[in-house]
Amino acid sequence: MSTPSDQTPLDLYSISLLLSYECISTEPRFRHAKLRDVATGSTPFTTPLGIHKAVVDAPEWISHNRDTKDGFIFEKDDTATGPDLPSNMLPSPVPSNLSHLSPKELETIFWQARSHDGCYRSVALLQHFFDLYPPNTPLRVRTSAGTDYITSASSRVILEMRLLRPKRMTIAYVVAGGVYITGHEDTMMHAVVGFGPPGEANVATVLDLASLQFGDAGRGLGGRSTFALESLDAFYDRLEAVAQGADTANARSSERIRQGPHDAWLTWVAKRVKERWEERDTKPWCGHCGRPGEALKKCSLCLEDYYCDAAHQTAAWPFHKRFCKGKKM
Ligand SMILES: [Zn+2]
Ligand SMILES: [Zn+2]
Repeated sequence: MSTPSDQTPLDLYSISLLLSYECISTEPRFRHAKLRDVATGSTPFTTPLGIHKAVVDAPEWISHNRDTKDGFIFEKDDTATGPDLPSNMLPSPVPSNLSHLSPKELETIFWQARSHDGCYRSVALLQHFFDLYPPNTPLRVRTSAGTDYITSASSRVILEMRLLRPKRMTIAYVVAGGVYITGHEDTMMHAVVGFGPPGEANVATVLDLASLQFGDAGRGLGGRSTFALESLDAFYDRLEAVAQGADTANARSSERIRQGPHDAWLTWVAKRVKERWEERDTKPWCGHCGRPGEALKKCSLCLEDYYCDAAHQTAAWPFHKRFCKGKKM
C-alpha cells in the first residue's frame, strides 16, 4: 500500500506503457515464440506443409470472407532468454520469407498475434494493478489530444460492447502450442476501461490496451502507439474502423471483472509494474514501448523522457509533444 505522503498521481499513460510491456513480453502462451511464417488474405504460407497444416486447413481461414485476413505461425525456441520483444521475435538467421518485415510491421504482428483475447485480459490486468492502491489514489489522465486532468483511481468503469462483423481476422498458431483466432465470428465482445474528471458522471477518456488486436487500425495516441488512450468519441470512431458497426447503445458498464484463468500471472505483472513505477526516478523506460535499460536516449528538448531509439521517439512524439517541457510553444 502507498504511504499517505505518496500523493504523486499515478500517470495513466506511463502505467499503460509499463503494463503493456510487462504483460506482452512475458505472455505464457507465446513465451519465446519466434515468428516462422506470415500469410495475408489469399497469399498462403510459404514454409513447407507439415508444421502448419492445422492452420492452413482451419475451416475458419478458408470459409471466412473478411476484408483482411492475417495468419502467423510461431515456433518456440527453448534456448531463448529474457523478455519477448518485437525486436527479438525473428529467428536467427532470419528466414528469407520474413526478411522484408520492417520494425513497425514486426511490432504490429507481435501485438496482433498475442492479443486475440487481449481486451478482457487487459481489463483484468488494470484491475489487478489498481487493487494494489487505495481507491482514492490520484490518477493523472493525459492524451495526445491534450487532455490532462487528475481524477481518482476508483473513478473508472469497464465498458463492454458488441462489435458487429469485425473487418479483420487473425490466426496465430504456435507450433505444438495452440491456435488463437480473432475476428472470425459474426460478432465479438470488446471491453475497455473508461475514466472521467472528478464529479463528471460520464466517461470522458477510454483506455484500450489491446487495440492492436485489430492490426494497425488499433494504433492510438496520434497513430503510432501500441495502445489507445483517447476521448470517447475518438474511441467510437476507431470501432467503426475495425468493425462494420458496434452496438454501443447496449454497451454494458460495470465496476469489476470476474476472476479469470490468467490471474496468477496478471497479479505478478501488476506487482512488477508497481515496483517499476516506484523506481521511476532511477530506472527510466522507453516512452514508446516501456522497455527498461541502460542504453535509452533522452529527449534532447526536456531531458526527461527516454527512448530506445529515434524510431520509438518519433512514434511517441504525437503524445510527448503535448507535454514535453522543453518544446517551445
Ligand atoms: Zn522503445
Ligand atoms: Zn521532451
